[in-house]
Amino acid sequence: MRVCILGPTGSGKGTQAGLLSQYLHIPTISTGEILRQAIESGSELGQQVKTDVEQGELVPDETMIRLIRDRLLQADTARGWVMDGYPRTAFQAEELDFLLEELGQRLDWAIWLEVSEAQLVNRSLERSRSDDQLEVVQRRIQVFQERTQPILEYYEIRHRLLRIEGEQSPAGVSQSICQGLGV
Ligand code: AMP
Repeated sequence: MRVCILGPTGSGKGTQAGLLSQYLHIPTISTGEILRQAIESGSELGQQVKTDVEQGELVPDETMIRLIRDRLLQADTARGWVMDGYPRTAFQAEELDFLLEELGQRLDWAIWLEVSEAQLVNRSLERSRSDDQLEVVQRRIQVFQERTQPILEYYEIRHRLLRIEGEQSPAGVSQSICQGLGV
């Protein structure tokens, strides 16, 4: 199974990606997590992306496309994966399809977690990550609406979009996802 979970910060995509990958015994690929670790380690990638991540801006597509290509070339992804936070732009979505074609793989579903803006802000502020201050959270939601929302249509017209009501309990959301995927 190959799926990506689309949703802004606070939508529960990290939690749901974790649950689904445990259930299906396939790895989670969390681009936010990879970037945060790179920043913490002070690596070259970390230094490049630090300002964007801390300000709630998107890291440039070229950097992200390279990162996801390197990750998908690792052996543990051969049997499937759950992407958390990728793709986030129309360009990333198209490039992902090209990359998968090259690898002889195919995305099964893009899962869209629908959560109201008020709930997104509340949930993000309940966490204590360094990039979870109010202005940054609001900026990330705005960036999501401008840059990521348009890719829903990309998946919808390809009949690969699974819409899930994201305001249920984590267990309820997880159950809806499994039902939708038929697993
Ligand atoms: P997340 O944990 O998924 O909310 O991601 C945290 C931050 O990492 C985002 O606010 C972006 O700055 C950056 N990021 C993660 N995934 C991507 C992506 N696919 N494209 C661009 N930037 C990303």
